[in-house]
Amino acid sequence: MVIKPKIRGFICTNAHPAGCEEAVRQQIEYVKSKGSVNSPKRVLVIGCSTGYGLASRITSAFGAGAKTLGVCFEKEPSEKKTATAGWYNTAAFHHFAEKEGLYYKTLNGDAFSDQCKQDVIDAIKADMEQVDLVIYSLASPRRTDPETGNVYNSTLKPVGNSYTTKTFDTSKEIVHDISLDPATQEEIDNTVKVMGGEDWERWINALDKAGVLADNCKTTAYTYIGKELTWPIYGHATIGKAKEDLDRAASVLNEQFKSKNLKAYVSSLKAVVTQASSAIPVMPLYISLMFQVMKDEGCHEGVIEQIYGLFRDLLFAENPPTDEVNRLRMDGVETNDDIQAKIKARWDKVNSENFSELADYKGYHLDFLKLFGFGFENVDYEKDVDPVVNW
Ligand code: NAD
Repeated sequence: MVIKPKIRGFICTNAHPAGCEEAVRQQIEYVKSKGSVNSPKRVLVIGCSTGYGLASRITSAFGAGAKTLGVCFEKEPSEKKTATAGWYNTAAFHHFAEKEGLYYKTLNGDAFSDQCKQDVIDAIKADMEQVDLVIYSLASPRRTDPETGNVYNSTLKPVGNSYTTKTFDTSKEIVHDISLDPATQEEIDNTVKVMGGEDWERWINALDKAGVLADNCKTTAYTYIGKELTWPIYGHATIGKAKEDLDRAASVLNEQFKSKNLKAYVSSLKAVVTQASSAIPVMPLYISLMFQVMKDEGCHEGVIEQIYGLFRDLLFAENPPTDEVNRLRMDGVETNDDIQAKIKARWDKVNSENFSELADYKGYHLDFLKLFGFGFENVDYEKDVDPVVNW
């Protein structure tokens, strides 16, 4: 079939296998061009198929020759329908890892479930003995609590007061105001249930109980902190409350597994275009303006640059610099006052007419297409391709 992007609102409902392979190949090439990182050699990546999790898996495997076990939640292809991008990314990762003789295994299932945790433990016992790095990179709109069977949905709403702000409608391509009602306490609690630290803790406890968590193991979950422009909808909003719960979980884990010398960190990363961030109101506008500023300043970075930097400079350092809540910070270039002031100046002026001048929407949109394997110059999108690609 000839595969062209089918965009519906903030999501693309199909993906291109050859383009996804190209996206993975380019990330591998980047890591190899930068040299090796001091990552442990037995790595579990929860949320391994797209975005920051995929970049973490690539950096461990191709920057340190690590064995990687991945967990993701992706749809397989059929003769009539393409797979999700994460499926094709994973197939491509397997292909490149195989070529280099690197161990890989991916389990496709619900990471929040006890069954998935057990399947991972069985795979570690069979092939790796133990893991010494656990990356927690899930982004999900819902979670079924394995203890109660209750389903919790996350919400993207301000906390406290309603909030009116500018946003960019990616389907109509206009800048307009939106008003967001504040979340109820139940909505806040549910978002913490989905995106907070409870499941991360359950993972570490399950791995430890099964004897597959190595001494001196490192684990990190990812957060976005941002600044004033994004605080009302992110940092100080429902999702920010869930992210604060990650800080709580990290300190509990550090205390609980002190005798094992486990180090649990929350790592704060910059805003990038991923399937998760494009679903958040305001973020496409903020990211498009931020891209323009950071490209003008020569400090633009994407997922692989951020993760490679985190792995090389912070995560495996003896006593890495941390912020006041023991977080590792890779977001300093985006959140420094000078860059933020430049983004704010554009933010105050931006409207539908001057949007393409002030913002790098072209760059944003191209990154968005690339998430699904579209927009690569060296991929022939007129060519008939088989959507059925197996792992
Ligand atoms: P993403 O949507 O690209 O990736 C999410 C991953 O989670 C995928 O591999 C997906 O398959 C997996 N997943 C989702 N639900 C699952 C489930 N139930 N079971 C198993 N796997 C499941 O998201 P991302 O933007 O890379 O986000 C990863 C983390 O990084 C999140 O914690 C996010 O808050 C954080 N972060 C993102 C940004 C950003 O700008 N995108 C910035 C800083 C931090």
